[in-house]
Amino acid sequence: MFSYMEGKRKFLFCTDSEGVRNLHFLVCRALNENVPFDFHIFQEEKEESFLSDWFSKQKMGAYLYISGKDDFVKRIKDVAIMAGFTEHDMQLLINGPVKKKLICCTCHGVKEVSDQTHVVCVHCGQELKVSDHYLRRLDAYLGYVTIK
Ligand SMILES: [Zn+2]
Repeated sequence: MFSYMEGKRKFLFCTDSEGVRNLHFLVCRALNENVPFDFHIFQEEKEESFLSDWFSKQKMGAYLYISGKDDFVKRIKDVAIMAGFTEHDMQLLINGPVKKKLICCTCHGVKEVSDQTHVVCVHCGQELKVSDHYLRRLDAYLGYVTIK
């Protein structure tokens, strides 16, 4: 759940259509406390094209909330970071399954998984256990060979 950040000069809300409900209480609070905000709902990826420009025009003290599906949240976050935001200037909330990359330990092929614990590598057919071993450099988790 999002938490309300005190003492910000402005809020930026970015959401897809499903993420809107998570932002409701923040908007109410911002209205009550007279904190200015911009609110954008995105239906399609092509509507996001102005974001990079918009983010880079924001002044110090702007705080960003991103709410929506996994792909959407990651995409908007990347644009914000490119425009100079840091992880301290934003909160993210993902609706639905979180996708992560899994690296096969046999062939080093990459597969996207959500909440499965075991998958079959699409590249080499190896059965893999989804581990908690996170490889920061690759932004991926390691898939171990399952021993039967
Ligand atoms: Zn493989």
